Amino acid sequence: MENNINHVGVIGLGVMGASLAQNFASKNHNVAVYNRSWDKTQSLIDKGVSGISGYQDLVDFVGSLESPRKIILLVKSGDPVDKTIETLLPMLSEKDIVVDMGNSNWKDTERRYNEYAGKIRFVGCGVSGGEEGALHGPSIMPGGEKDAVDELLPLLQKISAKDFNGNPCVTNVGIGSAGHFVKMVHNGIEYAIMQGIVEVYDILRSFDLGTGQIAEIFRKVDYGNIQSYLLDITINILETQDKVDGGYLLEKVVEEAKAKGTGGWTAQSAIEFGVATPSISAAVIARIMSARNQSYVTDKLIDDLKEMRTTKLTEPEIEAMITPIFRTLEMVYLSSYLQGLDLIKQVGDEKNYQIDMSEVTRIWQGGCIIRSQMLTMLDLFWEEDKIKSHKVLYEIKKDIAYIRMLHGKSHTPKPVLNATYDYFQSIFAGRLPSNLIQAQRDYFGAHTYRKVGEKGDHTGGWNQ
Ligand code: NDP
Repeated sequence: MENNINHVGVIGLGVMGASLAQNFASKNHNVAVYNRSWDKTQSLIDKGVSGISGYQDLVDFVGSLESPRKIILLVKSGDPVDKTIETLLPMLSEKDIVVDMGNSNWKDTERRYNEYAGKIRFVGCGVSGGEEGALHGPSIMPGGEKDAVDELLPLLQKISAKDFNGNPCVTNVGIGSAGHFVKMVHNGIEYAIMQGIVEVYDILRSFDLGTGQIAEIFRKVDYGNIQSYLLDITINILETQDKVDGGYLLEKVVEEAKAKGTGGWTAQSAIEFGVATPSISAAVIARIMSARNQSYVTDKLIDDLKEMRTTKLTEPEIEAMITPIFRTLEMVYLSSYLQGLDLIKQVGDEKNYQIDMSEVTRIWQGGCIIRSQMLTMLDLFWEEDKIKSHKVLYEIKKDIAYIRMLHGKSHTPKPVLNATYDYFQSIFAGRLPSNLIQAQRDYFGAHTYRKVGEKGDHTGGWNQ
């Protein structure tokens, strides 16, 4: 074994780890790789990528790294992360940096950050972009001890995607679990935008349009603020023919969407910290509903109600839908980002993450799943009070009726479109009927209420 020859080590050579190791190597880094089972290490070695050295023994792997060691974990989140770090600890020193790049729950990251303090420098780091991103340039969200993250940045800058100005899509996100918190919210936003897109697809299906025609409509709206990765891949998916049996491949896919948990964690965190994220929460619930495990719904009932789902439209009527679809999607993108960023801002302030919000929107401009043109304008929201005056919100106020136009014409379920509509309605309403809620609470539970223009709490005074 040769000592100190590798600049960085990667543990976990699944989809993400193997791609990231190749990305490091392509940027002239010597990379040590290790996987629990040898077969994945062997297949990476077989690719013959120069700069990658595979190790069968963790001691040799650690010994091959230059000091302070930088070790990236891309193993399954949860217990495997703890187990891997526990195994590594006796071989490492307090200056070594261990970076968990998996989709770990930020609460686990917070625990690990405290648990490993003084033993190693632990960094919880989100990464987005899937296999392609990991290979050619992901968006990277590291958080933890400031010095450790700053020390990592030059390495991560080389492998990351680039923003709209050509700068690396990586930043020191903040203290403690900030990196994984931001990545979790990124995924929550991803859930909402994806669900918003598929609800528009469902509306179009209900107008008896074919998959190819729907692809053409999405092509017409993939511009301006919402020109984005998720719309691009949606068009590609809609246009894909089944290479084996012909016909559109999508039409053969079972209508059930799975989830790995990050969307649910976002919705849970929003409720825990009292931040409203209705579009994100609705998207999480839509995935649960897609399992169709409501025991009271029978196939017969679904068949009986089927005819309600189709509304035939004429060509001019379809053409007239383009603007409402564009505006509706624009509202879905904006509400998803705003809700997610609001959550990051409020939790960040409470936990003292010290997050620069404009950096968050900047590092999402390239490489990640939720990249879109809209991100260029979002940092404007983070100056004091800008959120109230930004012209896009005024436009949304004008355009909000477009969601209703789409809604009125079809009978498909639209959890995210409805939540988005209600989110903006609640913001613009000026008045909310919460006076009556508080009165009800006081009536049955003496929870007190405040009177307009008066100081202090009141209770009672209601007719019995
Ligand atoms: P894969 O399923 O492709 O690989 C999982 C890896 O974890 C394998 O190397 C596996 O080793 C290792 N592993 C599983 N259990 C253990 C264990 N108990 N001890 C040690 N190693 C273990 O996963 P991905 O590469 O897709 O994902 C890795 C991480 O990155 C996850 O946290 C995931 O959520 C996250 N992520 C994934 C993205 C994606 O698009 N796929 C995007 C962003 C983040 P073995 O071969 O021995 O089973």
